[in-house]
Amino acid sequence: MTSPPIFRFAPSPTGLLHLGHAFSARHAFDAAKTAGGRFLLRIEDIDHTRCRPEYVAQILDDLSWLGLTWEKPVRCQSEHMDDYTRALQKLEALGITYRCLASRSEIKAHVEQRSGLEKAERDPDGALIYPGIYRNRSDQETARMTAADRPACVRINMTKAIELVGKNLTFQEKGSGPQGERGEVICNPQNWGDVVIARKDTPTSYHLSVVVDDALQGVSEVTRGQDVFYATSIHRLLQVLLELPQPDYNHHRLIKDETGAKLSKSAADKSLKAWRSQGYSVEELLEVTDNGSI
Ligand code: GLU
Repeated sequence: MTSPPIFRFAPSPTGLLHLGHAFSARHAFDAAKTAGGRFLLRIEDIDHTRCRPEYVAQILDDLSWLGLTWEKPVRCQSEHMDDYTRALQKLEALGITYRCLASRSEIKAHVEQRSGLEKAERDPDGALIYPGIYRNRSDQETARMTAADRPACVRINMTKAIELVGKNLTFQEKGSGPQGERGEVICNPQNWGDVVIARKDTPTSYHLSVVVDDALQGVSEVTRGQDVFYATSIHRLLQVLLELPQPDYNHHRLIKDETGAKLSKSAADKSLKAWRSQGYSVEELLEVTDNGSI
């Protein structure tokens, strides 16, 4: 007998959930139910400066109110840093990473000087492509320069990593990307440049933790919003480098506000908690998300 597929919803407790999260959580939960699969909840709380326990509590309360149930215990990423450190060490041993001391403002100044900000290369999220300031310095040299108060992040040397993998990567998209991408999608990790895989303030990153956890939890269908669709190229690359299994992907549309912008966690008046306190029912709120905007 084949084992049931495993789906997940993986919020970051850096703020209150909004209607986009409600839609995303229900999407994953309903997909699991339809497929006769299992449904997991994972708390992605690696950012200790922005994540708060009260947000976790509110997330659990909001999701129960939405009618979701999930398997226990819930995996909280902050409790599993060793797993990410092991994965990072594996990447370091492959010789495709380097330490980088550059701050955001140094990167910006460097790019500004080299090509000007307007002509600068940008990643799919619109951020500046890292201009390689520390790419060719040895880690020992960087370590010597690292004053105690200037911690380094770890970046992946994208060109080297792609060379090491040595073949074009693809993934199976069961939902759709922002441009209607579906079925077998070709990965373009080079579009991201040398991404950070371990941050200065925490020895991991979203990209590293998400691939490690999806593998450790046996997630077979990664359900999430289209805002991270293009990041799947990085995730596939990391999966191959770390010898992790390849899940299928199911990206869904995003809920927008009245101006057409993606909903943000900082708009407390638009939080699920706020809608609930105004007396809306689950059905009414899900109907709003069916229209694609609020
Ligand atoms: N924690 C991420 C977020 O809230 C999850 C993205 C994913 O599901 O991969 O955007």
